[in-house]
Amino acid sequence: SEQNLNRDTIAALATAPGRGGIGVIRLSGSAALEIARGICGEAELEPRRAHYRSFRRGGQLVDRGIALFFPGPNSFTGEDVVELQGHGGPVILDQLLQSAIELGARQARPGEFSERAFLNDKIDLAQAEAIADLIEAGSEQAARNAMRSLQGVFSEKIENLVEDLTHLRIYVEASIDFPEEEIDFLADGKVAADLDALLEQLASVEAEARQGSLMREGMQVAIAGRPNAGKSSLLNALAGHDAAIVTDVAGTTRDILREHIHIDGMPLQFADTAGLRDSPDRVEQIGIQRAWDEIRSADRVLLLVDAEQAHSLDPETVWPEFTAQLPDAEKLTLVLNKIDLTDYSAGLQAHTDGVPVIAISAKTGAGLEALKEHLKQCMGYSGGGEGNFSARRRHLDALARARAFIEQGAGQLHESGAGELLADDLRRAQQALGEITGEMTADELLGKIFGSFCIGK
Ligand code: GDP
Ligand code: ZN
Repeated sequence: SEQNLNRDTIAALATAPGRGGIGVIRLSGSAALEIARGICGEAELEPRRAHYRSFRRGGQLVDRGIALFFPGPNSFTGEDVVELQGHGGPVILDQLLQSAIELGARQARPGEFSERAFLNDKIDLAQAEAIADLIEAGSEQAARNAMRSLQGVFSEKIENLVEDLTHLRIYVEASIDFPEEEIDFLADGKVAADLDALLEQLASVEAEARQGSLMREGMQVAIAGRPNAGKSSLLNALAGHDAAIVTDVAGTTRDILREHIHIDGMPLQFADTAGLRDSPDRVEQIGIQRAWDEIRSADRVLLLVDAEQAHSLDPETVWPEFTAQLPDAEKLTLVLNKIDLTDYSAGLQAHTDGVPVIAISAKTGAGLEALKEHLKQCMGYSGGGEGNFSARRRHLDALARARAFIEQGAGQLHESGAGELLADDLRRAQQALGEITGEMTADELLGKIFGSFCIGK
């Protein structure tokens, strides 16, 4: 494309820095082939064929290795790309890179290869992010999800949403443009039905994206309960070391204590919070305030209660003041602790009103496996082949904004039947979705996204 012509040729180490069997220098841009020839000789580099060559810097032999030429547009970046595979030593690879730069290449910025692939329409933004996610994946499941995003599973769902949104917009806007028709959107019923369908579709993508994001960024789990319920003991038991202070003096944990814990390679961020009780102590009050902030923002709340004092498996009966203050009950798990002092059996108990109840002993470790298993399920961990796609908080924000605009539009429709306002809300919802695939993304945001990649990617 014409954009291609304006871009200079970039070069970077594509393999991890340090020592290894081989190391790869990657070049991309219209001068890539010419620069590569300056390093590995004038003989022709046939496309997509391995050539064993001497690599030189200023005529001096540096290494011998493999040169690969991928002519654009059928390359990763869409531009001419050359890979030089040499021995994996930092001095050798640095000399090869310097040689490329002396011949006219520029050191690539972090993520610049992916950025070019995006700018040249080889991949969309969600796919570019999936490459970074794939490389950074901390578990098999996270890697599988990233691979699915990279293959376009997520992007396709967003495109379907945008398409349906566009159809509806066209319908509404056409009706505005021909007022003599006097279309009453409410009486029509089609628009309301389409909006409902759209919201339903959006909710399902949102739910999948949330799972994908949990898998990538980790689930925030807040451990909440009264003083002495055993919150710090549970955190320590899960962490496998003493992270939090355990005492039988109530009110000891006053600030939030965080622990990053992996369960089967999946990241979880646990927070031990101050015990919830009425206290005249100012410092303790602040701790309790922070505990509530943590509970509200957590993806999962483990409400820990002393099993001896729990005479019901229904959290609303066990602690009505707590459940009354919790905005969404779906993220609640009731955990009965200290079962070593009772005759509860360890593990998952009967569900009451959908709230899972798990009996444990932080002291003996009984029931902890069941608790971990439960948390894995909450994260959407399937262990098998069927997973979802990887997603980021940024995507969730965009989806939430799109939903808010559509809901607002639906509200306008019901209140006033106002087509103009609805059309405007639909347009803004579409814009929010467009940010996910990068169709409508500000340069500044693009810079931030690609800047967080590592060099050579
Ligand atoms: P927190 O205030 O909720 O953080 O509670 P702690 O973890 O500090 O524990 C309070 C007291 O309960 C300590 O004396 C712990 O040893 C004890 N404790 C915690 N978990 C258990 C348990 O599962 N069984 C028994 N018997 N005692 C426990
Ligand atoms: Zn504590």
